[in-house]
Amino acid sequence: MSDAKENGLFLQDTMSRSKSKVFAEKEDLLRFYCCGPTVYGAAHIGNFRTFVAQDLFRRVTECNGLKTLHVRNLTDVDDKTIRGSIKAGQGLKKFTDHWKDRFHNDCSALGLLKPHVEPSAVAHIAQQIQLVENLLKLGHAYTSEDGSVYFRISSFGEYGKLSKLKSRDLSTGASRRTTVDDEYSKESLGDFALWKGRRPEDGDNFWESPWGQGRPGWHLECSAMCREYLGDSFDLHSGGEDLVFPHHENEIAQSICSSGKPFARHWFHIAHLMVDGGKMSKSLGNMYTLDDLTNKGYAPEVVRYALLSGHYRQPLNFTFSSLEAARSAIGKLLQANNLLGGGDSPSYEDSLARGSSELGPFNASWEALLDDLNAPKALGALFSAIKKIDLAGLMGNEKDNLRSSFWFILNAFGICLPKVGAIKDPPTKIKVLAEKRLQARLAKNWADADKHREKLNEAGWLVRDVPSGFELIPK
Ligand SMILES: [Zn+2]
Repeated sequence: MSDAKENGLFLQDTMSRSKSKVFAEKEDLLRFYCCGPTVYGAAHIGNFRTFVAQDLFRRVTECNGLKTLHVRNLTDVDDKTIRGSIKAGQGLKKFTDHWKDRFHNDCSALGLLKPHVEPSAVAHIAQQIQLVENLLKLGHAYTSEDGSVYFRISSFGEYGKLSKLKSRDLSTGASRRTTVDDEYSKESLGDFALWKGRRPEDGDNFWESPWGQGRPGWHLECSAMCREYLGDSFDLHSGGEDLVFPHHENEIAQSICSSGKPFARHWFHIAHLMVDGGKMSKSLGNMYTLDDLTNKGYAPEVVRYALLSGHYRQPLNFTFSSLEAARSAIGKLLQANNLLGGGDSPSYEDSLARGSSELGPFNASWEALLDDLNAPKALGALFSAIKKIDLAGLMGNEKDNLRSSFWFILNAFGICLPKVGAIKDPPTKIKVLAEKRLQARLAKNWADADKHREKLNEAGWLVRDVPSGFELIPK
């Protein structure tokens, strides 16, 4: 039994509706699965709130001494990707590869640890077909005239347990009814497609199966990839709260009915993101991507900080003043780092090796993270510890420990600080341009500010907004 099991991270479990200790069932390796993005466009900050919270979960778990096996899929075949690729006049692979690259760039800018395995749906068609065959054989699925295969939810008594929806809410409707969302015939409205028969609008995007040409249904890929990389039963499954129903209910049904074994032991869901107190929507123009925000002068580490600052179980209200607050918080952390001696920061691996012992004034921050990843409380404790830093009278090794404790917390959060050493003195004309951009920004003249930023970029300088004005960083 590991130390982490003794002194664990306690995390809310959606299934039991209570906090329970996160632990690894096998070999002190925490096996967990996160539902990944659909690669048909740039992910927005609502998506990234979930991925950042999952990254915090992984960091805290690892900093607490448990190794992890993190699997996150890429959905590269579904209605949206097919529609997008046809509209763009590109093959599905070319189209989704472009958005995969963009997603990876955004993830790395936001300081997300790479998953250990990142399987894609298209690369796992055989495993998905095998799962459907098994469900058909066991009587949990049926075929329809158009070559689709449906899961029969009446065959799984536990359906709805995760979302606590009553079965009558899930499966009302006359048999053989056709819905707007799903133009296939099925026995009951609640039944969902495991496999979709080929339709003309799918173009060239189909695969051969025992039921004819077609493609997998969206829910199927996660069950197939969990099984492939984590086994029938594993430690934890995560996603945004909007995935609880129907996606995760459907995953549970597919996996348990096929294997006859328990599926994920712990369910970790992240609440949604609001913008300016309201819903995010395309029509309101507030579905910001990371690029939208960096183009407005907010560095990715500022965006990450703003996304981390709320509790993952509460909806997070994202505003431009929350970004300003994040920027000023990072400024204070930078000052604290300078006070503690500045210089090169310990890497994440250094902090893992250090471990969580003797954190001194930063212990309260760590304790808050271990209690259901309470980020707001942990950040509050971090800043009150910083306020009390007094190096007078401390021995050299005590100073070193204070600094490594500070960085242990920052690395657990995945907070990056700008690299001071990377900044050299820019030429006057560059400074003038940056000053013009700052004035345009202060006047909320975004078009001019963007224009000046472009010019700086072309001249080889990145501009970063800081509480005192701006910083210029050579590219
Ligand atoms: Zn999934």
